[in-house]
Amino acid sequence: MSVKNVKLQSTFSGREFPFDTIEEFTADGESLEVVVPEITGAKIRSGRFLWERFADFLPFSSVDSELSLGEGNTPLLEAGKLLESHTGIRHLLLKNETVNPTWSFKDRGSLCCVWMAKEMKEKITATISTGNMGNSLAAYGARAGLNVLVFVPAFTPAEKILAMNIHGATVIKVDAPDYSLMKNKILGLAEEFSLRIVSGNGPIRVEGYKLTAFEMFEQLNRGVPDFIAVPTSACGHIRGIFKGYRELHEAGLIERLPKMIVVQAANNSPVVSAIKQGKNHIIPFSNFKTVAEAITGGNPAGGDEIVQKAHRYGWLAEDVTEKEIIESHQIFARAGFFVEPATATSLWAVKKLRDQGKIAPDATVVLMLTGSGLKDMDILRTQPQSTVESSLATIQADLHRILNRNK
Ligand SMILES: *Cc1c(COP(=O)(O)O)cnc(C)c1O
Repeated sequence: MSVKNVKLQSTFSGREFPFDTIEEFTADGESLEVVVPEITGAKIRSGRFLWERFADFLPFSSVDSELSLGEGNTPLLEAGKLLESHTGIRHLLLKNETVNPTWSFKDRGSLCCVWMAKEMKEKITATISTGNMGNSLAAYGARAGLNVLVFVPAFTPAEKILAMNIHGATVIKVDAPDYSLMKNKILGLAEEFSLRIVSGNGPIRVEGYKLTAFEMFEQLNRGVPDFIAVPTSACGHIRGIFKGYRELHEAGLIERLPKMIVVQAANNSPVVSAIKQGKNHIIPFSNFKTVAEAITGGNPAGGDEIVQKAHRYGWLAEDVTEKEIIESHQIFARAGFFVEPATATSLWAVKKLRDQGKIAPDATVVLMLTGSGLKDMDILRTQPQSTVESSLATIQADLHRILNRNK
């Protein structure tokens, strides 16, 4: 891979930083983003890969496609009758990121991260993760021949940890009263051990997430949805998708921007609470519990950028209770989609926004299906099971009963 002559810019004060320091935030906490040169003249090219067709929009001048595991190219589907009638939204679409190589959208960012790590000649890639990010980096690190170190909180589901281990990553499970405390401690140690910790909201990952916007632009024949609902934690995903649309707009390829919908669990809603209360800064949460374990960032760095973008661009924000998350999880499954509890949050959020009249009934709304349900099965163990216990001796009688056939 090689990099174009690009700069990083801080998202509030507009200060410029060199790209190759790959810092994720300024010393005073502003998020950084890649400024792609000459975006107004950017054109769509031909090519097999999305990153070839949208090369003008990316900071890389060449990339190593061998490090890809086949991420992206995910379906954009009609949600179907059940989900439409539950939400009251007639044009409801699902962007199914659960079919990525490690079953979450994180893979799009991880590809860019390993490209960059190779470019920087790094041997170790480290991250702090509640699961999906670590799982994704473990797979992409294995593909790229990098050593991967993942710090996970003690509440991380076993499925996710096992999936990191099998790729050869070193997993360090940290017992701490709170995820944010754990993060701060590790970030402090990273300096001592000269580890670069890749977060969920770094400028390079955001370039990977941006491709999702380009992919949907192609899938909707250059159309733009009215709303895109994104379950949000570190804020990288929502930021990346919107950056993609902003750049399409700057290049003159679309005439309007979609409105993003920030979705969080009510028990941990630092970004959504701030937006709803008209504040300019996130309201940190700690010591909370939620079944939506993939969105447990209580004090996300870069959250202020999202809060202020929400005010500036008229985004929506909604939070959902634990009961609503569990019900949404089941409704998604009844509609054929086995998603993570964190992913399920968006269904009830858009239903509430529709009920409040903030979303018109004929609006086109996309729900980002961020991650697969297979990686977080604990929630199912708390639900009533409908399995019928049978045996060779009783199965005939059982079938008579189940199928309602008289002997
Ligand atoms: C990471 C993740 C999110 C949150 O994305 P951020 O970029 O951290 O805001 C949502 N859902 C799932 C399943 C995730 O893995």
